[in-house]
Amino acid sequence: MGLIVQKFGGTSVKDAERIFNVAKIVTDTYSAGNDVVVVVSAQGDTTDDLIAKAAEINANPSKREMDVLLSTGEQISISLLAMAIEKLGFPVISLTGRQAGFVTQTNYGNARIKSIDSHRLHRELDKHRIVVVAGFQGLNRFDDITTLGRGGSDTSAVALAAELGADLCQIYTDVDGIYTADPRIVKNAIKLDEISFDEMLELASLGAQVLHNRSVEMAKKYGVNMEVVSSLERKPGTKVKEVVKMEKMLVRGVARDDNVARVAVIGLPDEPGIAFKIFTLMAKKNINVDIILQSIGRHNTKDISFTVPLDQVDTAKEALESQLDVLKAEKIEIADNVSKVSIVGAGMQSNPGVAAKMFEALYENHINIHMISTSEIKISVLIDRKNSEKAMNAIHDAFIG
Ligand code: ADP
Ligand code: ASP
Ligand code: MG
Repeated sequence: MGLIVQKFGGTSVKDAERIFNVAKIVTDTYSAGNDVVVVVSAQGDTTDDLIAKAAEINANPSKREMDVLLSTGEQISISLLAMAIEKLGFPVISLTGRQAGFVTQTNYGNARIKSIDSHRLHRELDKHRIVVVAGFQGLNRFDDITTLGRGGSDTSAVALAAELGADLCQIYTDVDGIYTADPRIVKNAIKLDEISFDEMLELASLGAQVLHNRSVEMAKKYGVNMEVVSSLERKPGTKVKEVVKMEKMLVRGVARDDNVARVAVIGLPDEPGIAFKIFTLMAKKNINVDIILQSIGRHNTKDISFTVPLDQVDTAKEALESQLDVLKAEKIEIADNVSKVSIVGAGMQSNPGVAAKMFEALYENHINIHMISTSEIKISVLIDRKNSEKAMNAIHDAFIG
């Protein structure tokens, strides 16, 4: 008996049958004597469809209006799920992000949650109602709707669990837990019973979309008891926690990120201040720069290349091309057909040879590496996108088998 937050993703609520399936899970939890707060995402591909609809009207709409549009997907889901729960004969109320008290930072499209005013939530729970909350959205200080970034409903759920001091935050999805790699790409992927916050945070940040990275960050910060479970089969999932009992595996997982492009600034003078100018330009445009590579200067020129999110590459290119004279660069080259493939494992920091083994797996599959980056618990490589599935399988086989 306690307070449980349950979050259901798009595929879990994609049609009437799935909505009733979710209503059954929720009402069973309620019948067992728990208070239940439910967070839902937009049905199926609704968010993508809304983005496509916007593009038919305006190729460059304001972020504010995009958020007004995208937040509607979740509003459909909360009403439909509440209707299904009503039909099963249980007390229920749906709340939009604003009604549930979500206050976010101002930036549209990728806002962070600042706080939750939980008065309304508490009032509804006191009335013993099941509360169904729209994920992915809040209100900023201008009284405008904001969204939390793609996949952000996970973060809505964890934030609610933290605010309400929930006993458990369950993320229900279309796989039965967290695997050593996306089980849809790597057939030999192994389901984990548990994973540490730190490792999951790296995996999520490196492209494993099973959890929104900020949800993991928040669960770690507030010590939220979190698990990923299947909405389609009732069986144990994967617990995400501070410390895991399992021995530190050399490599806990493999992840892929396709939302990446490489920008190369060619023929720069080999003199101080060049990197400063390039990355100041990127920072001014709010572009997230990831892997950076600078060639050794030869004949007084050098090249600097770096990766940016695919959806920011056009902005990066325009900004650099407008400053070619100032940078004294020859040209800008873009590669937008690349993927970042990474391995993550807390055991890696005390084991030499991990990188060599990863590169060997790629070499054996004739896969060329464009860029490399490492940290204590991860190694990433940039490769051609067409090779990314082969690379994931090869690397997974080499470390996890
Ligand atoms: P939801 O709509 O429920 O939020 P998502 O599509 O966002 O679901 O996330 C679930 C998907 O994440 C799975 O269908 C799977 O393909 C993918 N995925 C990527 N990496 C992993 C991983 N390491 N373990 C499990 N699933 C993963
Ligand atoms: N509906 C949003 C998306 O598709 C949020 C989410 O699914 O978590 O990104
Ligand atoms: Mg998701």
